[in-house]
Amino acid sequence: MKAARPRKNASPVQQTETRAMAGLLDTLADRALELSAATTVEARGNWRAATDEDGIAWWVLDRPGKSVNTIDRSVLEELNGLLDQAETAPPRGVVIRSAKPSGFAAGADIAQFESATTPEIAAMLNEGHRVLDRLAALSMPTVAVIHGHCLGAGLELALACRMRLATPGASLGFPEVMLGLHPGLGGTFRSLAVADPLEAMTMMLTGKAAPARRARRIGLVDAVVEERHVLNAVRAAVGGELHPAGGGWKARAFALKPARSLAARRMRAEAARAAKPEHYPAPFRLIDLWETHGGSPERMRAAELESFSELIETPTSRNLVRVFFLREAMRGLKDGASDIKRVHVIGAGAMGGDIAAWAAREGFRVSLSDIDPRPIGQALRKAVTMLDKTLKDRLKVRDALDRLVPDPGGVGIAGADLVIEAAPERLELKQSILREAEARMKPGAILATNTSALPLPDLAAALSDPSRFVGVHFFNPVSRMQLVEVVKHDALSPETLRRATNFVAELSRLPAPVRPTAGFLVNRALTPYIAEAILLAGEGVPKERIDAEAEAFGMPMGPIELADRVGLDIAVEVAQTLAERLGMPLPEMPGWLHQMVREGRLGQKTGAGLYEYDAEGKPKKIHLDALPDGAPIDPDLLDRLILPMVNTVVACLREGVVESEEIADGAMIFGTGFAPFRGGPIRYARERGVDAVIARLRELEMAHGPRFKPDPGWDRL
Ligand code: NAD
Repeated sequence: MKAARPRKNASPVQQTETRAMAGLLDTLADRALELSAATTVEARGNWRAATDEDGIAWWVLDRPGKSVNTIDRSVLEELNGLLDQAETAPPRGVVIRSAKPSGFAAGADIAQFESATTPEIAAMLNEGHRVLDRLAALSMPTVAVIHGHCLGAGLELALACRMRLATPGASLGFPEVMLGLHPGLGGTFRSLAVADPLEAMTMMLTGKAAPARRARRIGLVDAVVEERHVLNAVRAAVGGELHPAGGGWKARAFALKPARSLAARRMRAEAARAAKPEHYPAPFRLIDLWETHGGSPERMRAAELESFSELIETPTSRNLVRVFFLREAMRGLKDGASDIKRVHVIGAGAMGGDIAAWAAREGFRVSLSDIDPRPIGQALRKAVTMLDKTLKDRLKVRDALDRLVPDPGGVGIAGADLVIEAAPERLELKQSILREAEARMKPGAILATNTSALPLPDLAAALSDPSRFVGVHFFNPVSRMQLVEVVKHDALSPETLRRATNFVAELSRLPAPVRPTAGFLVNRALTPYIAEAILLAGEGVPKERIDAEAEAFGMPMGPIELADRVGLDIAVEVAQTLAERLGMPLPEMPGWLHQMVREGRLGQKTGAGLYEYDAEGKPKKIHLDALPDGAPIDPDLLDRLILPMVNTVVACLREGVVESEEIADGAMIFGTGFAPFRGGPIRYARERGVDAVIARLRELEMAHGPRFKPDPGWDRL
């Protein structure tokens, strides 16, 4: 393959550019973008443009100083300049591709919307549409060559080309729905015009990406080609030998309104199962758009613009954008590499087994020990199920299982860079396990505990070098809960904290550093929510109603069901610990609950707790409509559940248990599922009004007792 040579008569600037282009092209995985000596290369900020010997213009997106391309105003403005050129001196064809090894483009730069005013957003959208419409209207063939991620506005850019070629590893998707939006740069009507409309709608409604071959099957891309064949495929496309895949018979069928209405009804029902329209309006808006305007791209275009501009102003979207940045902030706590490669986990129970399997999934070499060989076997069986479900690839599952070694004797401790203890929650037991492990560990290795409640200083006291001891508090189930509280204590060295935080990020989990007070942040904040619910149930309010109100607020699970999942024994114990160690003014746990614990009615794990459970572990709940007439309702119910949780997060901020509002909100969202569209408990309080929340807490304090007393920390908000 020829390398690009500088043009003979080119100016020094052009020569440098041509060489830069050659270097740039070398970094492209495919190397197929080969330019001849006659090529002129021009750089304009985000784009590099060149015309090859076949007269095909290559516009390569390469945002300076970024590892991934995002689409923002400057990208589109510069594209507009390239379009001017193509209109004045038309090339035979135009190819758009990315110079970033990571992929085509990761979507719109959402930071640009955060600070923009309504008219600015509208202007940006209109201008973006105008540029992509110009691209779509070019008279010559236009081809997007897609590798890696091609998401959101990146996909909308590709869709404005007449044809799309994808390399086998490409992944295309519309993640806008996760930000409370739908596509806004023409993605709705253009995807529906080229692809199977039902599949395109599903992609936009779920945010799930499609790998290249699937994207080909549904018509979103026209061909999947190996990198080495890209150049030939481009020539064929420009030469008119590639025929766009198209949306097939379904595209024709759904051009008719009755067909769309029928499908829209089903989509609405499906969407309603996942989210409520008042909390997450975007999917419902998109279904309305399609049903009403799906027969006319022009009308759909206008309606998309209008609807997107409205959605981006909704609190839901603003909060979900915030959640996106919270996640980035937590990921950003990573500082370098953990230098951890080998992990040993002690205790193969519910948590230890999951932690070990997840670490193996994420590429670590893991050994797993237990005092009893049975839990190790069970953990390995569970690992297979989790890996199958999350990796969906036999080879990857096999590789992950190869990295997970049963190690009843704990031989792996000596070679591990990190040892995680996940034994039962008993101080003396954990102290002795940690002491023994420390004696066998190599110098420089880290020792961690997954304790939920034991004081870290007490555990550290058992060790000869507490500076390399840290808490890593995972949540159950590890594969679904993204949060890990990284628990500090006074003797912990900054280096151990840094490495533990990096390890969590390398596990694709989100670290939240916390101080070692009882319950840390998340369990402490959840306890009053659960305790108040149990009290309400004791007052006669139907359990189903309590759970339904919390879920309607946006919690992923009502507090009664949550209590059963946690285990009533654990819930009682945690509440006692928090009351004793922090003097938390929790409601007294009623006698009937203690009685249930004594009788072994502990919740889901025993088949019965506050609810009865079916064979699949699902609670048997009475439908709200079937509740007995006159069943008590408490008008304060929701505030009684939610505000003590928010109040506790405020207390944690005041005490420095967690260092910032952002980490506090992020931890509650990623550790408990606290309604993401509300942006986290502190954001919720700010939106409702800090003074209004304080006043409401005072009212509840008067009506129900001192547990609702506003924390002094509110003053600082
Ligand atoms: P578990 O009872 O399911 O598992 C504990 C395992 O440790 C058992 O398999 C037991 O055989 C083993 N074990 C007991 N003594 C041992 C010893 N001396 N050496 C090696 N192994 C020994 O408990 P779990 O729910 O996995 O909890 C483990 C830790 O994780 C606890 O500290 C708990 O507080 C914490 N935690 C639990 C959850 C949860 O939801 N279960 C969530 C977060 C943190």
